[in-house]
Amino acid sequence: MKAKRQPSSKKPSAETGNHSKELQKRLRGRVVGEGDAGYDHARRIWNGRIDRKPRLIAQCLDQGDVIACVQFARERELRMAVKGNGHSVAGTAICQDGLVVDLSMMKGVRVNPQELTVRAAPGVVLGELDHATQAFRLAVPTGTDSEVGISGLTLGGGNGWLMGAFGATCDNLLSADLITAEGKLLIANKFANEDLFWAIRGGGGNFGIVTSLEFRAHRLGPAVVAGALLYPLDQARGVLRAFRSFAQEAPDPLTVYPCLIYLDDGTPVLAMAACYAGEVGEGERAVLPLKKLGKPMADQLKPTSFLEWQSAFDVARPFGRRCAIRSHFLHEIEDDFIEVLLAGFERAASRLSAVVLEHCHGAIGRVDPQATAFALRENPYHFEILAFWDRPEETAANVKWMVDYFAETSRFSSGEVYVNSLDEDEGGRIREAYGLNYERLRELKRKYDPGNFFRSNQNIPSA
Ligand SMILES: Cc1cc2nc3c(=O)[nH]c(=O)nc-3n(C[C@H](O)[C@H](O)[C@H](O)COP(=O)(O)OP(=O)(O)OC[C@H]3O[C@@H](n4cnc5c(N)ncnc54)[C@H](O)[C@@H]3O)c2cc1C
Repeated sequence: MKAKRQPSSKKPSAETGNHSKELQKRLRGRVVGEGDAGYDHARRIWNGRIDRKPRLIAQCLDQGDVIACVQFARERELRMAVKGNGHSVAGTAICQDGLVVDLSMMKGVRVNPQELTVRAAPGVVLGELDHATQAFRLAVPTGTDSEVGISGLTLGGGNGWLMGAFGATCDNLLSADLITAEGKLLIANKFANEDLFWAIRGGGGNFGIVTSLEFRAHRLGPAVVAGALLYPLDQARGVLRAFRSFAQEAPDPLTVYPCLIYLDDGTPVLAMAACYAGEVGEGERAVLPLKKLGKPMADQLKPTSFLEWQSAFDVARPFGRRCAIRSHFLHEIEDDFIEVLLAGFERAASRLSAVVLEHCHGAIGRVDPQATAFALRENPYHFEILAFWDRPEETAANVKWMVDYFAETSRFSSGEVYVNSLDEDEGGRIREAYGLNYERLRELKRKYDPGNFFRSNQNIPSA
């Protein structure tokens, strides 16, 4: 059945109106253009700082809709953006004056508990995947916020609480269906289009539109040991130094993120957030030494529901909050770095901002950096400055704080960046995201998308 068009509130331009009608004839999903009811809602993405006005938004319902969009954009020479669930901080899911292929309504998760595999549609978010898999006490390693889209996260790499035990999200991708720049379906896995399969495990949305993903699942839950230890900032120096040694011996399933945050009353604290991806008893033993790195003011690290822990960060990162980001990897937490880290955080322009030091160790680090496009395997600390604020007049102060702070920390950088943590003005850092894999990715871009049809992304230039 065709979707019904809603009444217009504003008059679209004649060209937009024609395009909208023509595309609507080819789709099951709804096409929303400027002037249509719901346009402003449809163009909103997670980062409230991004305000772009696409000509059309195609709310796709199936693979046929996606193919029709690709063909339509080619015929009309329209710029095209692809939206999984719109969580890219850089806002690449939305383009100005082009066609947005919105996959967020393409839902569905199928778990095969015998084979330990999971099939997900491209609009599935992490919380939906976790809900479906936890019914069988299974989990796919993903990220830490339940509303993040599985597509964008997997295509960029995907790190989270289970990476020490089971690797990155892309390491657990078994197969993907993808629509190419010619509108053709390709299946990419270790038996078919192996080079494409290599490229989409880290290479982002550069090679096509993924319409289905199959993952390996692992036994986990329903309870895990997870939560945070909170320390006053005057203990942060000592705890971080002690953590440096602890981290070298940490068992694979124990993933810890030291974070600097402000409590609701404005007090800055060090939060050692952690999750043990295994049996509760083992987890309780494994976190005992972590609890002795200092004298915590609060100990919230205990047996808890994995499903609940997977959405524990959501409250600090609501839809529509303004965000800017800078990040890089570190080989080690040096003493001088700790000084710069603490001093910069105390100058934060907003009490909503945070700093995260993700310890990426264990299984994620044992994969050869050239085995997939995701090359970030050797330097274990992913350092992110997350500037958050709510009012537009606060933008300049927050961006300045982040840029200055980042400049001070840059001398400690390994020279690498996670592609999913690049901001909208950081396209020039794309080579840092791929290191030795960059030239091979450029060759594959030439093979699969020589005309750079897929360019509203962290773009890899064709060789
Ligand atoms: C609050 C928050 C928490 C986060 N936590 C984590 C985390 O714990 N771990 C982690 O690794 N990352 C994390 N991220 C980063 C996240 O991985 C990226 O923002 C990712 O792009 C989100 O996926 P999405 O589908 O929602 O993205 P979108 O913004 O919808 O898409 C981003 C880009 O991905 C590509 N893309 C998306 N879907 C498809 C598709 N089906 N086919 C082809 N290309 C596609 C397109 O190029 C698109 O421009 C977080 C981001 C936020 C905002």
